[in-house]
Amino acid sequence: MAAFTARHHRPPGLAIVLVGENPASEVYVRNKLKSGRAVGFLADLERLPAAASLADLLGLVERLNGSDQHDGILVQAPLPNGLGPDAATHVFDAIAPEKDVDGFAPGNVGRLVQGRPSLAPCTPLGVIEILTREGIAIAGRRACVIGRSEIVGKPMASLLLQRDATVTICHSKTPDLAAVCREADILVAAVGRAGLVTRSFVKPGATVVDVGMNTVTDPAIAATLFPEGHARLRLFRERGTVLVGDVHPEVAEVAGALTPVPGGVGPMTIAMLMMNTLRAAIARVAAGQTRAR
Ligand code: NAD
Repeated sequence: MAAFTARHHRPPGLAIVLVGENPASEVYVRNKLKSGRAVGFLADLERLPAAASLADLLGLVERLNGSDQHDGILVQAPLPNGLGPDAATHVFDAIAPEKDVDGFAPGNVGRLVQGRPSLAPCTPLGVIEILTREGIAIAGRRACVIGRSEIVGKPMASLLLQRDATVTICHSKTPDLAAVCREADILVAAVGRAGLVTRSFVKPGATVVDVGMNTVTDPAIAATLFPEGHARLRLFRERGTVLVGDVHPEVAEVAGALTPVPGGVGPMTIAMLMMNTLRAAIARVAAGQTRAR
């Protein structure tokens, strides 16, 4: 990163677009901006009011597409309902593929599926980074991904397949989910249901990656996740809320390795956003698309 800045007389630049005032999005965006600035990037927030139109948003994306200073554009999801049901699709279609640091634009999705170099979605990239850094073999292993969303489940499966895993994708209509998951050496949960993955889903010794981020406010659910006297249950009772993953804490007793929530995939997702921004900056300079200021 420092080498890029010294050589090109500008830091890599990231623009984050936030529409409206979703409290969770405010937190995510703040963390991304903070991380970007901490590593020396230009990290700009572009806000639009909740009442903004799709045309306003597309106009902003178009301006950022043409910006010399910004190598990456991230439009924070979810978008306000008032923008219409297909707003996200229109917006991702409009982001210049070389600045698409979320990896959601159709060109980048296609390249990922074809195994060609691309900007891939940050959360699945982060999962691969965790597995690699922990020395967990992927090639030849059985991998199971629960969830088939465009931002996590599908690209996760593509990245595992590219690395020669035998991949199963499960979803809300998969019968006997636990039995399918029990086949896996590597199990990735990306559903959005607190504690869905219990001990019965996990082959002893399997690696379990918990992508889920669920805010629990119901005392009955909190009580099914943590035994009486557990520090996190005490914290829940103090605060009335606790952040948990899709994987039940009891899985720690059977898994060979398990990522924590919070503190596992979440921070790695932000790190991969920075990596994608730097990669985009290097690629844009190489393609002669930016001028040194
Ligand atoms: P999504 O709602 O778009 O997709 C959820 C998927 O889970 C769907 O494909 C659905 O078929 C499947 N599903 C739902 N209920 C199921 C069930 N009972 N059994 C099996 N499959 C079921 O969600 P998403 O955007 O992919 O996010 C999933 C989770 O990951 C959420 O908790 C989200 O907050 C979290 N997330 C975390 C990060 C991070 O940085 N850690 C990033 C993105 C998403």
